[in-house]
Amino acid sequence: MTQSSPLILLIEDDPQTRRFLKTSLGGRGWRIVEAESGKTGLSMAKSENPDLAILDLGLPDLDGVSVVRCLRLVSDLPILILSARTQERDKVEALDAGADDYLAKPFSTGELDARLRALLRRVVKAAINGETFETGELKVDLARRKVFMAGNEIRLTPIEYRILHLLIRHAGLVVTHRHLLKDVWGPDHVHDSHYLRIYMGQLRHKLEADPARPRYLLTEVGVGYRLSGND
Ligand code: CA
Repeated sequence: MTQSSPLILLIEDDPQTRRFLKTSLGGRGWRIVEAESGKTGLSMAKSENPDLAILDLGLPDLDGVSVVRCLRLVSDLPILILSARTQERDKVEALDAGADDYLAKPFSTGELDARLRALLRRVVKAAINGETFETGELKVDLARRKVFMAGNEIRLTPIEYRILHLLIRHAGLVVTHRHLLKDVWGPDHVHDSHYLRIYMGQLRHKLEADPARPRYLLTEVGVGYRLSGND
């Protein structure tokens, strides 16, 4: 946690969830301002200058995806989506609209706290453009494009490296299928999910001790992939 505690804008209409988050995140050193509707949230995103936003998808006035689009028009404020099971489709849409990560309800405070810290780190990392990435035994020299597992160099194909590199840029956060396909293969291939399955299988084979139970390259069912963060 940084010295001046980061400010979270919590956009959530359910008072019980707001109370719970305010208490639990407050106890972990976050400051929170609350908005009970999408419109209030959008105006507070300007007036309060938050470090990140937690956005509930089921709001009474605007749908969460519209809130993400409106926020993205004016800022790159990191956004974590809170979604209920009934909002699976909206969740992917919100991520593709520019949200940075999501957490399904119900969730643990520990998990939420870890995700929020991953979001903040991403912002810091984007600013300093770090040259090495490390998590567990995986080490990537980004300047020389070299990948090491437990000290041994692992040879990746250019496409495998591009997938890994994109996941590293979002370490600890989910990256949607669409985002990966668009970034690695181009906009004409956003529906070619089989490409991803094949290459992710190869990457896991090279980087995971047990590819069937990955420690680093995690699957987010129906959404995308997440590289485990470095904490
Ligand atoms: Ca709600």
